[in-house]
Amino acid sequence: AMPGRNFLFIPGPTNVPQRVRNAMAIEQEDMRAVDFPRFTLPLFEDLKKIFKTKTGRVFIFPSSGTGGWEAAISNTLSPGDKVLMSHFGHFSWLWVDMCQRHGLNVQALEVPWGEGVPVEKYAEILKADKNKEIKAVFVCQNETATGVTSDVAGVRKALNDANHPALLFVDGVSSVASIDFRMDEWGVDACVSGSQKGFMVPTGLGIVCVSQKALEARKSARLHRVFFSFDDMMTANDNGFFPYTPNTIYLRGLRESVNMLMEEGLENVFARHRRMATAVRKAVAAWGLKLVASDPKWYSDTVSAIYVPEGFDGNEMARHAYKFYNVALSISLGKIAGKAFRIGHLGDMNEMMILTPIAAAEMAMHDVGIKVKLGSGVGAAQEYLCSTKQQVRG
Ligand code: PLP
Repeated sequence: AMPGRNFLFIPGPTNVPQRVRNAMAIEQEDMRAVDFPRFTLPLFEDLKKIFKTKTGRVFIFPSSGTGGWEAAISNTLSPGDKVLMSHFGHFSWLWVDMCQRHGLNVQALEVPWGEGVPVEKYAEILKADKNKEIKAVFVCQNETATGVTSDVAGVRKALNDANHPALLFVDGVSSVASIDFRMDEWGVDACVSGSQKGFMVPTGLGIVCVSQKALEARKSARLHRVFFSFDDMMTANDNGFFPYTPNTIYLRGLRESVNMLMEEGLENVFARHRRMATAVRKAVAAWGLKLVASDPKWYSDTVSAIYVPEGFDGNEMARHAYKFYNVALSISLGKIAGKAFRIGHLGDMNEMMILTPIAAAEMAMHDVGIKVKLGSGVGAAQEYLCSTKQQVRG
């Protein structure tokens, strides 16, 4: 075993705070106990606040984000339904792939990696869809593979401008509870998240928030769902129970993480993520490197994908940091595999923590021969953090 901390800076699973770990260090419990609903019902209510919805409802599946995707589509759509999607990274592509494999009629716009949802193109397509054949429009709010955040509100506006009734689906797996998300205000019909990123709980919960309109859609939706059935969930959840065995330990962890998010205040959580992300971006600029996100409007506050200079392998560099410095940076995937590396800066994160992956990346880049001045990125991040410091104690 290595002495000291084993540092984790991947974009999920994220660091699980001690408070959450303590909350999970408990005995198993009876999920049919008379007092179980006293725990679950307020948890469902408080989760609605995280998604910023008063009128929607939240489902918790013992799965991961991928299960949440499947729940969202299988409960609301029918085979052959036309849906509008776009892909610009590993994860936005995987939801497209899932929709295709479910037999939906997918119009998938291919967007260069480094950009996000093409809102203007969506607007054109929705306007041109006079017969309102498109049943759902998809947005990956934060593409974790490239560190790109998309404009959900813009897509809502495109739907409204076209007077289009399509459902609006959002992948919020690496954004919810870290980057602002507004279910009601943006008229989102299903937002999918997971426990292991902004929620700071281990992987194992698919958390899906849906609108009344999405619940209505389930009545005519003919895709098959059993494990992910909203109906089965609602029947049991209405009384504070689950249709099958819930992972109660993770629910206890989630309860604590939601407490922490509410104590800090969601807007403060978002501002903290922006600050951590900005510190990383200052370091990247000081290194003379480029983000995969091609324009500041796409910059993600939860994960940065950073190109290494040509001729070098970013994944090799990330593995070097792991092997020699006990720091898990994140490798790059798909089209940009090896061309970049990623730093996850979401969840339980503070100033001193964020300096660690910056320092480690510098040392690993130095070791593998990438020209960066040791301390340059750390210095730039420190300067930014000092100039924006906030009193946290006393
Ligand atoms: N969507 C995004 C944006 C993700 O980053 C991920 C995982 O990293 C997923 C979906 C899939 O979630 P999971 O791995 O929890 O199934």
